[in-house]
Amino acid sequence: MALISLSHIEKPSSTVQWLRLVFSHLLFQDHTMALLDILIYPDQRLRQRAIAVDEVDAGILNLIDDMIETMYHASGIGLAAVQINVARRIVVIDLSETQNEPRVFINPEIIEQSGSQLHEEGCLSVPGIFAEIGRAEKIKINYLNRNGKPITEEADEMLAVCLQHEIDHLDGKVFVDRLSRLKQERIKKRLLKEAKQSANNA
Ligand SMILES: [Zn+2]
Repeated sequence: MALISLSHIEKPSSTVQWLRLVFSHLLFQDHTMALLDILIYPDQRLRQRAIAVDEVDAGILNLIDDMIETMYHASGIGLAAVQINVARRIVVIDLSETQNEPRVFINPEIIEQSGSQLHEEGCLSVPGIFAEIGRAEKIKINYLNRNGKPITEEADEMLAVCLQHEIDHLDGKVFVDRLSRLKQERIKKRLLKEAKQSANNA
């Protein structure tokens, strides 16, 4: 990305150029990125089942940009729309070290899976809790990219884990559901207590 300072902006030499400059500025300003609130377990709204996106329009693209911004701000590697209380089938993931390679999965659907792997998982909706969860080792998925193009892709390792975790969110499931009842109760208690403490301190 190139950063430009005001002094380097070309002086518009014609009315057309001037109008183009003003117009592109207006377009650029049309959507200001927004940080969205992430629902925290055991919030019941994490249980909603998301519905498919039928058209990738400007509203959906704005939502995706906000989700990516929110994920980066929270230092997450994945975020599902249900986690920000939007019941649409959208997932964003970035597994790059530099956190500048966001991937977008609209209506992701696992069509094949094989093998198994154990991996420690965490979740922006379950802060401070990490647990080993068993998932399929390899998956094949169908989804739409941000241009609305249908894609079929195979995933393994972290991407497979992450996609399975996020697709669970779209079905109203949280990784904690895969732990024992006792562990679920402990996590619930701890997060409710922390929420109460932070509300008291606010
Ligand atoms: Zn999660």
